[in-house]
Amino acid sequence: MDNCIFCLIAKGDIPSATLYEDEKFRVILDLGPAARGHALVIPKEHYADLFEIPADLAAEAVKLAKRLLPAMKEALSCDGFQLVQNNGEAAGQTVSHYHLHIIPCYAGKGPGAAWTPGELAEEDKTAIPEAVKKLL
Ligand code: AMP
Ligand code: ZN
Repeated sequence: MDNCIFCLIAKGDIPSATLYEDEKFRVILDLGPAARGHALVIPKEHYADLFEIPADLAAEAVKLAKRLLPAMKEALSCDGFQLVQNNGEAAGQTVSHYHLHIIPCYAGKGPGAAWTPGELAEEDKTAIPEAVKKLL
Protein backbone atom coordinates (compact mmCIF):
# COMPACT_ATOMS: atom_id res chain seq x y z
CA MET A 1 0.00 0.00 0.00
CA ASP A 2 2.30 2.73 -1.33
CA ASN A 3 -0.08 5.61 -0.74
CA CYS A 4 -1.34 4.62 2.71
CA ILE A 5 -0.30 7.28 5.24
CA PHE A 6 -0.15 4.82 8.16
CA CYS A 7 1.97 2.36 6.13
CA LEU A 8 4.44 5.21 5.53
CA ILE A 9 4.36 6.33 9.17
CA ALA A 10 4.59 2.79 10.59
CA LYS A 11 7.61 1.99 8.42
CA GLY A 12 9.29 5.27 9.34
CA ASP A 13 9.13 6.83 5.85
CA ILE A 14 7.15 9.73 7.33
CA PRO A 15 8.34 11.03 10.71
CA SER A 16 6.01 10.77 13.69
CA ALA A 17 6.10 11.31 17.45
CA THR A 18 6.85 7.67 18.29
CA LEU A 19 6.34 6.28 21.81
CA TYR A 20 7.26 2.73 20.95
CA GLU A 21 8.43 0.64 18.02
CA ASP A 22 9.19 -3.01 17.41
CA GLU A 23 9.24 -5.24 14.32
CA LYS A 24 5.43 -5.44 14.18
CA PHE A 25 4.11 -2.15 15.56
CA ARG A 26 4.72 1.56 15.86
CA VAL A 27 2.88 3.59 18.50
CA ILE A 28 2.57 7.30 17.73
CA LEU A 29 0.88 10.37 19.11
CA ASP A 30 -2.32 11.28 17.27
CA LEU A 31 -2.03 14.61 15.41
CA GLY A 32 -5.61 15.51 16.36
CA PRO A 33 -5.74 14.24 19.93
CA ALA A 34 -9.00 13.74 21.83
CA ALA A 35 -6.93 14.36 24.97
CA ARG A 36 -3.28 14.93 25.89
CA GLY A 37 -1.25 11.81 25.14
CA HIS A 38 -3.77 10.26 22.68
CA ALA A 39 -1.78 7.52 20.97
CA LEU A 40 -2.32 5.12 18.07
CA VAL A 41 -1.08 1.52 17.97
CA ILE A 42 -0.33 0.91 14.28
CA PRO A 43 0.70 -2.46 12.86
CA LYS A 44 3.45 -2.24 10.25
CA GLU A 45 1.56 -4.62 7.93
CA HIS A 46 -1.37 -3.08 6.11
CA TYR A 47 -4.83 -4.32 7.09
CA ALA A 48 -7.82 -2.06 6.56
CA ASP A 49 -9.69 -2.89 9.74
CA LEU A 50 -10.64 -5.51 12.32
CA PHE A 51 -12.33 -7.59 9.62
CA GLU A 52 -9.05 -7.93 7.74
CA ILE A 53 -6.38 -8.08 10.45
CA PRO A 54 -5.46 -11.57 11.67
CA ALA A 55 -6.92 -12.24 15.13
CA ASP A 56 -3.48 -12.90 16.65
CA LEU A 57 -2.12 -9.56 15.47
CA ALA A 58 -5.19 -7.71 16.79
CA ALA A 59 -4.67 -9.49 20.12
CA GLU A 60 -1.02 -8.40 20.10
CA ALA A 61 -2.11 -4.78 19.57
CA VAL A 62 -4.25 -5.00 22.72
CA LYS A 63 -1.41 -6.68 24.63
CA LEU A 64 0.89 -3.87 23.60
CA ALA A 65 -1.67 -1.29 24.75
CA LYS A 66 -1.84 -3.11 28.10
CA ARG A 67 1.94 -2.88 28.37
CA LEU A 68 1.96 0.83 27.53
CA LEU A 69 -0.88 1.86 29.86
CA PRO A 70 1.03 1.94 33.19
CA ALA A 71 3.90 3.92 31.62
CA MET A 72 1.49 6.35 29.96
CA LYS A 73 -0.51 6.72 33.19
CA GLU A 74 2.62 7.69 35.08
CA ALA A 75 4.06 9.90 32.34
CA LEU A 76 0.80 11.75 31.70
CA SER A 77 -0.69 11.74 35.22
CA CYS A 78 -4.01 10.75 33.71
CA ASP A 79 -6.81 9.02 35.59
CA GLY A 80 -8.19 6.52 33.08
CA PHE A 81 -8.06 5.31 29.48
CA GLN A 82 -10.36 4.48 26.62
CA LEU A 83 -9.36 2.01 23.93
CA VAL A 84 -11.21 2.87 20.73
CA GLN A 85 -11.00 1.14 17.39
CA ASN A 86 -13.14 2.37 14.50
CA ASN A 87 -14.17 0.12 11.63
CA GLY A 88 -15.73 1.61 8.52
CA GLU A 89 -16.66 5.10 7.45
CA ALA A 90 -19.97 4.86 9.32
CA ALA A 91 -17.97 4.32 12.51
CA GLY A 92 -15.85 7.39 11.86
CA GLN A 93 -12.83 5.53 10.51
CA THR A 94 -10.88 8.07 8.47
CA VAL A 95 -7.65 6.11 7.89
CA SER A 96 -8.19 2.70 6.29
CA HIS A 97 -5.22 1.05 8.00
CA TYR A 98 -6.09 -0.77 11.23
CA HIS A 99 -5.18 1.24 14.33
CA LEU A 100 -6.08 1.13 17.99
CA HIS A 101 -6.61 4.43 19.78
CA ILE A 102 -5.33 4.77 23.35
CA ILE A 103 -7.10 7.81 24.77
CA PRO A 104 -6.00 9.04 28.19
CA CYS A 105 -8.81 10.46 30.34
CA TYR A 106 -8.48 13.14 32.97
CA ALA A 107 -10.74 13.47 36.02
CA GLY A 108 -13.30 16.22 35.57
CA LYS A 109 -12.77 16.52 31.81
CA GLY A 110 -15.05 13.68 30.68
CA PRO A 111 -14.04 10.88 28.31
CA GLY A 112 -12.56 11.84 24.93
CA ALA A 113 -14.79 9.38 23.10
CA ALA A 114 -18.36 9.64 24.37
CA TRP A 115 -21.84 8.77 23.12
CA THR A 116 -25.38 9.65 24.09
CA PRO A 117 -26.98 6.53 25.58
CA GLY A 118 -30.19 5.42 23.83
CA GLU A 119 -32.62 2.78 25.09
CA LEU A 120 -32.50 -0.95 24.35
CA ALA A 121 -35.73 -1.79 22.51
CA GLU A 122 -37.71 -4.65 24.05
CA GLU A 123 -37.78 -6.71 20.81
CA ASP A 124 -34.02 -6.29 20.28
CA LYS A 125 -33.29 -8.02 23.60
CA THR A 126 -34.12 -11.34 21.93
CA ALA A 127 -34.01 -10.55 18.18
CA ILE A 128 -30.39 -9.35 18.10
CA PRO A 129 -28.85 -12.17 20.18
CA GLU A 130 -30.81 -14.72 18.12
CA ALA A 131 -29.72 -13.21 14.81
CA VAL A 132 -26.04 -13.03 15.80
CA LYS A 133 -25.80 -16.46 17.47
CA LYS A 134 -27.17 -18.06 14.29
CA LEU A 135 -24.22 -16.68 12.33
CA LEU A 136 -21.38 -17.58 14.68
P1 AMP B 1 -9.89 6.94 12.79
O1 AMP B 1 -10.94 8.02 12.76
O2 AMP B 1 -10.17 5.88 13.79
O3 AMP B 1 -9.58 6.42 11.41
O4 AMP B 1 -8.59 7.66 13.33
C1 AMP B 1 -7.63 8.25 12.55
C2 AMP B 1 -6.81 9.09 13.49
O5 AMP B 1 -5.56 9.32 12.88
C3 AMP B 1 -7.42 10.45 13.81
O6 AMP B 1 -7.57 10.56 15.22
C4 AMP B 1 -6.42 11.45 13.24
O7 AMP B 1 -6.26 12.57 14.07
C5 AMP B 1 -5.14 10.63 13.19
N1 AMP B 1 -4.20 10.99 12.15
C6 AMP B 1 -4.43 11.16 10.84
N2 AMP B 1 -3.29 11.43 10.17
C7 AMP B 1 -2.30 11.38 11.11
C8 AMP B 1 -0.89 11.58 11.06
N3 AMP B 1 -0.27 11.87 9.92
N4 AMP B 1 -0.19 11.47 12.21
C9 AMP B 1 -0.81 11.19 13.38
N5 AMP B 1 -2.14 11.00 13.48
C10 AMP B 1 -2.87 11.11 12.37
ZN1 ZN C 1 -1.47 1.00 5.32
